[in-house]
Amino acid sequence: MRRRSLHQVMITALVAPAPTRLWTPSRVLVTRSAAERPHGQRVLARLEAAGVSDIELLPGDRLPNLRGDGDRAAFMAAKQTMAVVVPPPSKRRLQPIPPSADWRMDLAEGCPAHCQYCYLAGSLSGPPITRVFADLDELLAGLDTYVGRGAVTSGTAARGAEGTTFEASCYTDPLAIEHLTGGLATAIEHFGTRSWAGPVQLRATTKFDDVAGLLDLPHGGRTRLRFSVNAASVARRFEGATSPVAGRIAALGAVAAAGYPVGLTIAPIMPTDGWREEYGQLLDDVAAALPPGTDLTVECITHRFTPGSKATLTDWYPRTKLEMDEAVRTTKRGKYGAVKHVYPRDTMGELRSWFTGAIADRLPAAQLLYWT
Ligand code: SF4
Repeated sequence: MRRRSLHQVMITALVAPAPTRLWTPSRVLVTRSAAERPHGQRVLARLEAAGVSDIELLPGDRLPNLRGDGDRAAFMAAKQTMAVVVPPPSKRRLQPIPPSADWRMDLAEGCPAHCQYCYLAGSLSGPPITRVFADLDELLAGLDTYVGRGAVTSGTAARGAEGTTFEASCYTDPLAIEHLTGGLATAIEHFGTRSWAGPVQLRATTKFDDVAGLLDLPHGGRTRLRFSVNAASVARRFEGATSPVAGRIAALGAVAAAGYPVGLTIAPIMPTDGWREEYGQLLDDVAAALPPGTDLTVECITHRFTPGSKATLTDWYPRTKLEMDEAVRTTKRGKYGAVKHVYPRDTMGELRSWFTGAIADRLPAAQLLYWT
């Protein structure tokens, strides 16, 4: 066999796996203010290049009523709609987002996928359209004032070394729409090339795998790309219109080879039949995909639901087989009395102990950031 030079090996490593799923919205609405912003114009150019034909430039900043009759057709139409908008100024006063990051910075709100447990169901109200924020340049320019501030990861013994952290995937999946917006790439480049007053980290997590546009960016090691993964049966049954887990793992390997710090978001963890074998296989697949020396973190989030998210999800997915039975859960109350239903203490203990051991065994260099 012919020996390959190191350069050839590097080039091979940076070839992105082909994306398994690219969303094409059937309708796009662009508000007047969004069309005036540079990022709004970049998104418009990308939409046209992608062959999206139904693009409506609105005369003002109000979106039309997309509620329809509140029926299934209206829900599906909203999921197939992208809006490009400028959010209200209050959106740009960044908020802490524990346990992930010091600050939440939203590139968009909403997601075109159909996960039957989607956490957005309990967080976002109104028709589930995907709103892309056109004020990206202003958002990025405003981040300087947050550097050195924050209490979620900054100043903590376990995670202080990450610098001031900014989470870009609280209310969207940024990679699901990246081929149409380019917003994540712009943010990665901004973080990677700017001269900051202190260490910073951009964070994003995804259930998609179209990473080709990210591999050659000057990321400077300042963006941690995490992939949200799950046991095969959970992904198969509940994660509609996402990239298959194998595609996400291949994408994880590709961005790790491109020098990004990376992460696994194992979520939502469910103790389904054969969960140890399935999650064990998942961790083995991840270990096999990562190049030596990868900077890897792991975040573990067990399945939970709230009264609001259950009502919305059963409305959206009436035939779901997802277990959301209060009778088999433990009820927890948050700071302001908000109720959430989590697995009982014994189940949680069993899951936590298994995952802690399995991650240490199979991904010994990984740092487990949190369990919740
Ligand atoms: Fe929700 Fe994430 Fe699934 Fe999108 S990919 S539907 S944001 S859980």
